Amino acid sequence: MTVSILLVEDDKPIADNVMLALARENMGCRHTTLAAEGLALLATGKFDLAILDVGLPDGNGFDVCRTLRGFSDIPVIFLTARSDEIDRVVGLEIGADDYVLKPFSPRELAARVKTILRRSRNGAVSANATAATALIKVDDERARIVCLGQPLDLSRTEYLMLKAMAARPEKVFSRAELMDAAGLAEASLERSVDTHIKALRAKVAAAAPDSDLIRTHRGLGYSLARDGA
Ligand code: CA
Repeated sequence: MTVSILLVEDDKPIADNVMLALARENMGCRHTTLAAEGLALLATGKFDLAILDVGLPDGNGFDVCRTLRGFSDIPVIFLTARSDEIDRVVGLEIGADDYVLKPFSPRELAARVKTILRRSRNGAVSANATAATALIKVDDERARIVCLGQPLDLSRTEYLMLKAMAARPEKVFSRAELMDAAGLAEASLERSVDTHIKALRAKVAAAAPDSDLIRTHRGLGYSLARDGA
């Protein structure tokens, strides 16, 4: 497929690495360091996806995205250096499709670009990535869960449990329900659910330190908070 991506990023080493990673995946990339030039290029309608840095010398990526949304619905991925900027990106007020937190792996970014393009071409942007909460994203296609932009390193059981909880934020899951979700044999002790939840909670906390996303309901079970507020 011929893909054309616009990268607006003023940090040259980052831009070079991203362009290299995209080129390796046979994706074409045009690069500019300026918000104004980025918008002018996007206005040509020649791009399939935009990668926008937030802090630019002549403006910011959020304004670029907002203006872009006035005339185009191509996917947008933000590059952000600060976790407090993520709140605005995931708040969807901006109209972004994804974000990566610097420092990031250009190869990982290129993989995300491919996934997003494949989805937008299939006309099903949210079919495989359910934005269950603002902080937790389930990526069915790749069997992984991303918390605040960081893929969690989960066991199969942990993945299945968190996925079930993410599908229904705020629902209290009994231990038996979580065992079901993870396909654990009935012979497993319900206590083992507590062990898996403990491990999950530590992994989520490592990715999103102040989130307290997984709640304990004494005598009932566990739930996933909607937004970790
Ligand atoms: Ca910058």
